[in-house]
Amino acid sequence: MSERFDIAIVGAGIAGASLAAELGAHAGVVLLEAEDRPGYHSTGRSAAFWSETYGGPLVQPLTTASGPWLEEHGFLGPRQGLHIARAGDEAATEHFMADFATAKVHVEWQDRAGLEHFVPGLRPEWNHGVYEPDCKDIDVAGLHGWYLAEAKRLGVTERVRAGLVEADHGPGGWRLKTADGADIACTTLVDAAGAWADTVAELAGVTPVGIQPLRRTMVQLRTSPAPVQTMPLVMDIAEQFYFKPEHGSVWLSPHDEIPSLPVDAAPEELDVAIAIDRFEHAVDWTVERVEHKWAGLRSFAPDRLPVYGPDHNNPAFFWFAGQGGFGIQTAPAAARLAAQVLLGLSSDGLTAAIDRDRYLAARFG
Ligand SMILES: Cc1cc2nc3c(=O)[nH]c(=O)nc-3n(C[C@H](O)[C@H](O)[C@H](O)COP(=O)(O)OP(=O)(O)OC[C@H]3O[C@@H](n4cnc5c(N)ncnc54)[C@H](O)[C@@H]3O)c2cc1C
Repeated sequence: MSERFDIAIVGAGIAGASLAAELGAHAGVVLLEAEDRPGYHSTGRSAAFWSETYGGPLVQPLTTASGPWLEEHGFLGPRQGLHIARAGDEAATEHFMADFATAKVHVEWQDRAGLEHFVPGLRPEWNHGVYEPDCKDIDVAGLHGWYLAEAKRLGVTERVRAGLVEADHGPGGWRLKTADGADIACTTLVDAAGAWADTVAELAGVTPVGIQPLRRTMVQLRTSPAPVQTMPLVMDIAEQFYFKPEHGSVWLSPHDEIPSLPVDAAPEELDVAIAIDRFEHAVDWTVERVEHKWAGLRSFAPDRLPVYGPDHNNPAFFWFAGQGGFGIQTAPAAARLAAQVLLGLSSDGLTAAIDRDRYLAARFG
């Protein structure tokens, strides 16, 4: 005898958790997570910032729309952003400024003196940049935990160690089997499986849209001098690295995008070495030791935009995937938008400024 739900969501990272919380008041929902705790994969490995420029101008509306919600719920903290550039990068910097000024993102051109004010010890070749004052830190665990708690409060059933292993679609809806031996029936199957989004689609007999996991490395460094906690998130405009202070240490990424299978990602020594080399070309600080390193997968559709909405061949299969490097900062608007699409609701204050068609899975039809 199987349990019946309206909607089964596969994956309890930020995508699945946030969508479960949005749907819980409207439908009977089960949230299925393969691991023994939600948030073990990409969601638990992020760099924890909210930047309207990150992900590009076509992702920006989702990030901007999510900002006030995140602020009101207390999940944003002070940070600021600084995109640094070298002589020769001027055209890229101007392009960047133009993209985001049009979208009314607060961006300000900086000369060398401006950069020095924010980053002591910056190497001389970094001669201009862009200041992004509204960039913030995000409390990722707090946000993810809030969504899981909200889902629970609204009656969503959460199952861990319950990886989806079979999914058959017939006239009565979906028949699902999970790794813990449960049989579940539901009307709509939501794919919020992050790096495994295509795998879950294949399991359900749906043609994959081509979600590619890309590995991203992070290192935590002890440096001399130690960064002041008020220093901005410093990003290379040419996207070769970013770093920010984290309780007296530096969080640094070489901005790597290494194609990977969907796996439990681990950092490679070479990428850690590349990160440190790029950091040492940015500032004259001494790297005293690597305190911690990790890696996670950022999963992208072929056009690098997220994929929300019913599959064009099987509308009972709903994509909520391709959150790339922006799945945390876009979560509130993304989840509300996806819930509106799934439930056939019109936009509200959180989603009114978003062109939903841009992100629909139907674009791959
Ligand atoms: C190093 C790094 C830095 C980042 N920094 C930022 C940042 O600063 N800001 C930002 O907004 N974003 C950032 N991101 C991106 C962000 O982390 C992701 O976009 C986001 O976490 C994706 O969430 P998700 O729920 O789709 O994936 P995940 O968190 O990976 O969740 C997917 C879940 O699906 C489960 N699953 C898979 N297959 C099955 C199955 N068959 N059955 C059941 N469950 C299954 C998995 O176990 C997993 O828990 C960063 C990512 C990385 C790796």
